[in-house]
Amino acid sequence: MRASFQLGRIAGIRIGVNWSVLVIFVLIAWSLAAARFPADYPQYGNGAYVAAAVLTAVVFFVSLLAHEISHALVARRNGLHVQDITLWLFGGVARLSGEARSPGAELRIAGVGPLVSLLLGVVFLVVAALVRAGGYDGLALAGLAWLGGINIALAVFNVIPAAPLDGGRLLRSVIWWRTGDRLTATRWSSRAGQVFGWALVALGLLTFFTGHGFGGLWLALIGWFLVGAATAENRQATRRIGIPT
Ligand SMILES: [Zn+2]
Repeated sequence: MRASFQLGRIAGIRIGVNWSVLVIFVLIAWSLAAARFPADYPQYGNGAYVAAAVLTAVVFFVSLLAHEISHALVARRNGLHVQDITLWLFGGVARLSGEARSPGAELRIAGVGPLVSLLLGVVFLVVAALVRAGGYDGLALAGLAWLGGINIALAVFNVIPAAPLDGGRLLRSVIWWRTGDRLTATRWSSRAGQVFGWALVALGLLTFFTGHGFGGLWLALIGWFLVGAATAENRQATRRIGIPT
């Protein structure tokens, strides 16, 4: 996946966007504007729903970017070179050159992303609660609540111990630490990633074919991507460690 256009640099790190982000952006903005916001606050006009939905979707992508930038900054602090960050169909990717040098470094680099998402989620919910306590009850509240929920969901999903999710790297760092063997650790986290990916594919297809909606297809697609990425990660690690350096 390559960046289709560049947004600029943050802390010297090139930030790019793949065109496939548009698919997610439209899906999120559309579902908020057409379903969620009107259901929560029926008193507004269409223009207000669309404006609030687009703004909420933009803030969501900024949250995603914050998650990736945190990985990149901690990676850099731990001696890795950060190539760039790209936002795409399944979220964001911070491309790092090389591997963490110790299980501790791996743990810090992988762990900071979900932590940032969790913190952002809590901040959005706290701001929503404060705004509500201040007497406001309107569309902005629906946006804040959604941002809080989605960031917390992102943190939880990302710590599932399955490569290539952050949780897969956390699992790898723990096995690496316990066994002293990075290759074994990579094999286990990749295997976990493949199993989890296939489980998502199965669950997604089941959801879709039992008539519970197109969300199932989306789930299956994410599962399919995870299986491929976990397999590639295992192959790459095996090859890299196979070369004496
Ligand atoms: Zn992450």
